[in-house]
Order: sequence, then structure tokens, then C-alpha cells
Amino acid sequence: MAALFFERLFSIYHESWAGFLVKCQDDTEEELITVGTKTKDNVRKFKYLKEDFGELSVKLEHLTIYLNFLGEKVEASNCIQMAAVKGLDKIDLDAKELEIKSVEWVSGPEDNRGEALKFEYLREKDRLIVKLPRRVESGERFFIRSRTVCTPADHIFEGIYKDTTPPGAPQQYISQCQQWGFQRIMPVFDDCRAKCTMTTTIEADSRYTNLVSNGNVDRRLNPDGTPVPKPGDPARQVITYENPVPMAPYLFFVGAGTWDTLADEVAYPSGRKVRLEYLVPPGSIEAARIPMEILKESVLWVGKTQDYEYPFDTYRTICMTKSNFGGMENLGNTTIVTDAALITEHTLDATLLYAHAVIVHEFEHNQCGSETTMETPFDVWLNEAYTVDVERQFMADLFDPAFTRLNQVDSIRAPLLGPLTIEDAGHFGRIVREGFNDPDELIDGVTYVKAAEVIRMLRLLIGAEAFRAGKTLYFSRHRAGNANTDQFFECFEEVSGISLKQFKSEWLMRIGYPKVSAATGYDEKKRQYRIGLRQELKDGEEPFCLPVELALVNKAGQDIAGTQRVITFKDREAQIIFEDITEAPAFASMNRDYSFYGTFTHTNADAASLAMQTRLDPNAYNRVDAMRKLTDIERVKLLNDPSAEINEEWLSLWGSILSDEKLPFSLKAYFLRIDEQPLDRKYTTWYQEMVAARERLASAVNARYRGKLVEEFKRLASLPAKSLNDGIEVRMLKNIFLDIIAVEDSPESHRLILDSFDNASTASERVAALTALNRSTSSARKAILEKVYTEWQPHLSGYANYLRVVSSGTREDVFDMIERESSRSTFDVTQPTWCRALFLTMAGNNKAVWTDKGIRWAADTVVSLAPINATTASRLLNTFQHVKSLKPQLREKVSAALERIVELVPENVCPTIHGQARTYFKG
Ligand SMILES: [Zn+2]
Repeated sequence: MAALFFERLFSIYHESWAGFLVKCQDDTEEELITVGTKTKDNVRKFKYLKEDFGELSVKLEHLTIYLNFLGEKVEASNCIQMAAVKGLDKIDLDAKELEIKSVEWVSGPEDNRGEALKFEYLREKDRLIVKLPRRVESGERFFIRSRTVCTPADHIFEGIYKDTTPPGAPQQYISQCQQWGFQRIMPVFDDCRAKCTMTTTIEADSRYTNLVSNGNVDRRLNPDGTPVPKPGDPARQVITYENPVPMAPYLFFVGAGTWDTLADEVAYPSGRKVRLEYLVPPGSIEAARIPMEILKESVLWVGKTQDYEYPFDTYRTICMTKSNFGGMENLGNTTIVTDAALITEHTLDATLLYAHAVIVHEFEHNQCGSETTMETPFDVWLNEAYTVDVERQFMADLFDPAFTRLNQVDSIRAPLLGPLTIEDAGHFGRIVREGFNDPDELIDGVTYVKAAEVIRMLRLLIGAEAFRAGKTLYFSRHRAGNANTDQFFECFEEVSGISLKQFKSEWLMRIGYPKVSAATGYDEKKRQYRIGLRQELKDGEEPFCLPVELALVNKAGQDIAGTQRVITFKDREAQIIFEDITEAPAFASMNRDYSFYGTFTHTNADAASLAMQTRLDPNAYNRVDAMRKLTDIERVKLLNDPSAEINEEWLSLWGSILSDEKLPFSLKAYFLRIDEQPLDRKYTTWYQEMVAARERLASAVNARYRGKLVEEFKRLASLPAKSLNDGIEVRMLKNIFLDIIAVEDSPESHRLILDSFDNASTASERVAALTALNRSTSSARKAILEKVYTEWQPHLSGYANYLRVVSSGTREDVFDMIERESSRSTFDVTQPTWCRALFLTMAGNNKAVWTDKGIRWAADTVVSLAPINATTASRLLNTFQHVKSLKPQLREKVSAALERIVELVPENVCPTIHGQARTYFKG
């Protein structure tokens, strides 16, 4: 999944993508005895533990499915062909919120005179226990047919659910099966290991343009590849799909809807062609043209760099309007949330980048996930982390690699849902979980961001060549099967000869990240340069095994020959000695490109050497990082003493970067950006002080360089974008300038903001200007916002942009404005894209949310959202995850808010929110 959204956190300044991740699945059938251990469940911390995923009692072979869409209900007939793995008297199927009509013992899918079987439906356990008519012996093949009915929901986005219906069309239905959605459609062994082939027939209203499922259309029954009228009933149509490849149930997809289709094809170097389809809302074909080009590039890129060729006839991308995730790889039928699937005049640059990422991500899942599948949800990180790593390589190929790495590190440090933040709270952070209560818990920044860093570190430690050999072995050894975490690492150990025991235990099995410090020194007499590395460890903690990429840099800004290396640092302390260094290096460039996940401090780097590194480091990432460290010194000073003087040298360095004509736009944007969040994690929860310190710093540079800032802003506004890539980077820098200029709430700023809004040619520019306007005292503010509402509201993404602007407001009326938006007739709280835009944006709005009003608003909103969309409510609740590290006054208020949430959201209404709030409250 990408989900989450796509599976991911793409946090780019000003745009809250916090709501987006991707997702994945699973559960196991168990013997009745396990179902009976209910009392044990009550004392354990997690509903699901690894031990719950015992061996399957059968080997699944084939499903013959008939799905009949009948108004508000969907009838399902499923003939399961399987072979017993051991002697059996009964089988346990997963079945959630279904109406069970019958279960029969049949001789095959064609057998219409089956023998009715006794069954017991344990609704609270989501289990259907079917008594077999006789004992089935190990190895014996047998068939069971179930006839059941499910009721698609409109705000539970799992199983078959109601998506947004185009005007005049019959109700749109799509499905989401990861992790356990299949069992909401019909009884099944809803387990990643229950891979089998399928024949799926869909019957529905003949007005639908498409009836879709996995596999190839059965041309004997549907010669044109499209549905045929149902014999004797022209108001109905029927289509049959054959899926010849064993597939896990979480990858199942069914859709009955009204779409326009953009079709194209891509040819591999071998000449083999794959048909590509985009199923889009009626009238949106044009908006799928850029995504189609990205997809074609992705397919060929994956073929070239990942040695994977898509084996089926057609690869389809389906727009889904309502989802908690960004995308889902349903083998051959990827769903992508419409907001990111279509590129329109309302697409923000962050979404455009996300669109590239999610397209290649979901396509790569054909190899990693669909073909080679995780064994249980405890291995979901493998599916996702590896896939995110591939997606990141694609992004680094397409865009400036330093820019993409800076973006990734932003998602690591993201203040609400980034993994460092999650780990700081101390409750979550283990990549291989101890247990879980709901599989959606696994779709978070730990799985998608921290775990992807683990894959990156593995490659750095064993080298790119061994990594490639290891992944080739992994995908060939486990092709068409399942694999677990140990099996994955075994492949890399085998090819590299390196033990990964310590690497695995520390990175996968514990909460927390390494805190590394380095002290450096040059001995002129011995011509030696020394680096002492140290990991900060508490009693009983083992050190992490991590890669430190580094080089020594001379005063001309070049790496000193022979000093570039990747150090495997696996002890509490290590000494690295460089011999024959004839001249004192300018500095050591360490932890290049953020080579390991965690924090890194160079203890004896003074401001002068950081300033030198800012100018000279050949590693662009580290140049930016050096500047950020200097900015952090100023920030921390202001956090502790709001009236402290701002350092002149920092101000003049900032000014010299502003005037540097040679810097690429995106790097310049990163250099000059003044974040609220400090690098020093000791201060990351000083929210109110962070806001004030950021305003002081931005005001100081604005006061000093106002003329130049305005001039540069105007110059960039007049630059024609040379390319897509170039355009994104120019706008990023332009928006950073505007953000700083707007810190001065003057008529001149207002004029500039309004000009910028009027002349904007892209959504990112319009949204940046409107955000600045909404934070200002401009008298034009309200009227323009209302006009924008009218213009943007009819468009899914445009409306979301408008809602983000409202929720990023910092004026005293921001909560009244949110209230007004949420009660407008056009706002639909069950539409997750809008819900995230209006509510989650506030979670990152430190200036507003950490006020008394803001804390009350967040608690009230979590309470009211919990029964409607637990996923969004849960992400909003993350705002309070650091309650224990807040300063006493805030802590008291947030504790009271959490107590109220625990009280007002009982466990039986929403276990996720109740449990999460209780965890934060009790610590
Ligand atoms: Zn994924």
C-alpha cells in the first residue's frame, strides 16, 4: 500500500500531507481451541500476537466467485477449492459482518446439488466455523461453497464500500482488502499465505461502464473483453475474470463503477507490450495524461533497474475518491486516491511529487508484495520498506538527488507523524511489532519511513553490489510464495558473508534511534586526523550497527583523496584514524546524506567550521545541514531566552546565501528555510516557544534583507519554468521568500501577497499566497477567501486546498472559520480528502493549536470524528503524543483533554482512539 496514502508521509513546507499513507494485510485461521482462549486476550496488551499466526490447516488452490451487486447489498457465492494439510473435521473461515445464507459441501464449482453443512458464526470473533460432513484426510482435495451477503458501507473504507458516484450514474462501488477487507466481502482464509488462483464473475446494473476484478477477462464468455448482457435480463450485465497467478486475499479487488478510460501501452525492450488503462471520473481524461506518462516511465524504469517485467496483459489504475490511504496495489488494479491520481490545475507541487512516488510504488508492489508476499502482518514492513526504497531511487533519478534526500529527511523529522517524533513519545517505534490491535496501526511512519531507512542502511553497510545480489536471491527464492523477516535477511547474509544479527535486533526489535556524537582532531606532527565516534546508550542498551558515510574536505572544497568511506559503527565507541594527512583538513564531512537514521552531533564543530562547511562541502546535503545547525544555535538561544540577540555572523551568512546566484533553487530553498522545529530534539515539544523563535528569526532576516527578498521574489515570479522539475524547485524557493516577507504584516506585504495571488499560474503559488493572506490583517482577506471558496469548492482537490488554507490560519478567528467550513452543506465529513485537509492541517499549526482554544478544539474534534473516521481522528490525536514532555502548564491542559477523550470515546465505540488516548494519558 502506499498508502496511505500511499503509504506515506510527504511533508513539504506548508502542505500537510500528514494524512497520507499506503497500506497492507492479514490474519490466520486457527483452531477452535484458540478462538476459545478469549479470556487470555483480555489480559494481553495486544489483540494479535505473532503466535496467533500458526500454520494454515489447508492449502488453498482456487476460488470460484460470483459477486452480484444488488442495490444496497452484494451477494457472494464462493466455491473454495483446497487440500487438507492435516486431518480435519471442521474448518475456520474469516467472515466479518456478513449474512450467511448457506454453506455446502460440493464436488466442484459446477456442482449445484451440494450438501448443506452445519456452521457456527462467531460474529464477535469474525469467524465462521464449518463442520465437515466427514473427516478429511491430509492431502485430500475438497470443495466448500458459501452463499453470503455483505452490505457496503459509506464510511468504512474496507471490503466493498461506496465511493463517490458520478452525477446520474448508479452507486459507485470499489473495494479495499488490505489488510482484512476480503472477509467483509465473503468468507475466506484471510491470510497472506492463503495464495490461490481465482475465477471471478461480476453481475451488476448494465449502466455501469466498468466491472473490474483481478486477472484477465475470460474471452470465451466475454469475447470483446467487456461485460455481456445477462441472458434474459438486459438490465443486468456479466463479466468473468480468470486470475491464473496465486494471489493473497488482501490483493483482491472488485469495482462496479462509471469511469472514462484513458488507454495506452508500453513496450519492453523485448518487444512485449502491456496495455495501460486509467479509469477516471467522467470528463477527466485530460487530467490523467501526465500520470500516464509517469506510469510508462515507471514501468520501463522498474524493468531496467529492478529486473522485473510485468507478466500480465493489462495494468489498470483506478481513481478512488474516498480512501484513508494514498494507493493500493490490487494486483493489476492499483487504486490511487483521485486527489493524487489526476494532475489538474489544483494539483500542488507536493502532490505532483507524490503522484510520481505513488505510481512507481504501487507498480513495484507487483514484484515486492504481490509476487513475493509477506508471511504475516508482522512482516508488512518488508513489503513496504523495500518498495519505498525502490520508489526513492526512482525519485532520485528523476529529480535532484540532494533535493529528494532532503525531502526524505523532512519526512523522518516530520513533527506530527514522522518516525523520530513517534519514537520520542516512547510508545511505538519497533519495526517488527510486538503485537497489534488493528492492522491499520502498522501503516505508519515507522513502517514507511524508518523501515525504508533500514533498507537504505543495509545497502550502505554491505555495498550496492551485494545488496543487488541479495535482493535478486530473495525474489527468486521466494517467487510466488511468502517470506518473513528472517528469510529476507538470510539472503543478504548469504551473498555478503556478513552477519546481520546485531543489525536486525537493534533496528527491528526496539523503540528508539541511535544518538551518535563525533569529536575530531588533527595532529600536525603525526599527520593524523582522528574521529572519535560514540553512541549514547542507557544501561542495558546494546549499540546499533550503523553506517557512517564520511570524507575529509580540504580548504578548496574537495574531498581529500582516499578519505571517502562508509564506516560500520557497531560498538559504543570507535576511533577512525586517517594517516598521512599532510595538511589540516577544513572539516570532516560526516553522516553524509543522513547515512544513518537517528541524531548526529559533531561536538567540537564551532560556528566558523560550520560556516565553512556551508560554503565548501562537496556533499550538498551536508552543506544544507551545516547551515541548519547554525540556524539551530540561534533558535535554541531564543527558545531559552526570547530576548536574546541574533548573531550577526549568522545574519550575514544567510544574506550571502540569498545573494548566491550559483545555488540550485531547491538547495537554496532548503538553506534559507526557517523551520519552527529544532534539530536538537530536546526542544521539539516547546511548541509555543518554537513559534516565537521562528518569528524572531524570520523577522530579523526580513528586516535586514527586505529589499533583496522582494526583488528576488519578483524575479522568480517572472521566470519561465524550463521543466516540470525546475518549476517545482523555483516555486519552492519563491514560497519560502513569501513566507518570510509575510512575517511583516504591513500594507506593502499585503499588496505583494495579493499581486502574487492574482498572477499565480499554479496551485502551489495560489495556495501559498492565500495562506499568507489568511494569516494577515489585510482587509481583503474575508472577501477573497469567500470568492475562492465559490470557485474551488466544485473541484475535489481545489476544495481540499481551500480547506488547508483555512486551517493553516493563525488569526484569532481560525477556529470559528473551521467550524463554519465544517457546517457548510458542501462539506462532507465522510470524504477523507477534505477531512484530512480541514482537520489535520491544524495538527501542524503550532501557533493556533497550542492555545487553550486549540487544545479544546483538537480534543472535541477527535471525539466527534472517532466514530466517523478513526484513521483521521487517530492522526489528529497524535498532536498530543508528547504530553509527558510538555512544559507543566501545557501538560496539565493536554492531560485534561486526553482524560476527556478517554471518557467520551468509550472502548466499544472506537477502540483505536480510546486506547491511543489512554496510552498517552497514562504514559
Ligand atoms: Zn506499499
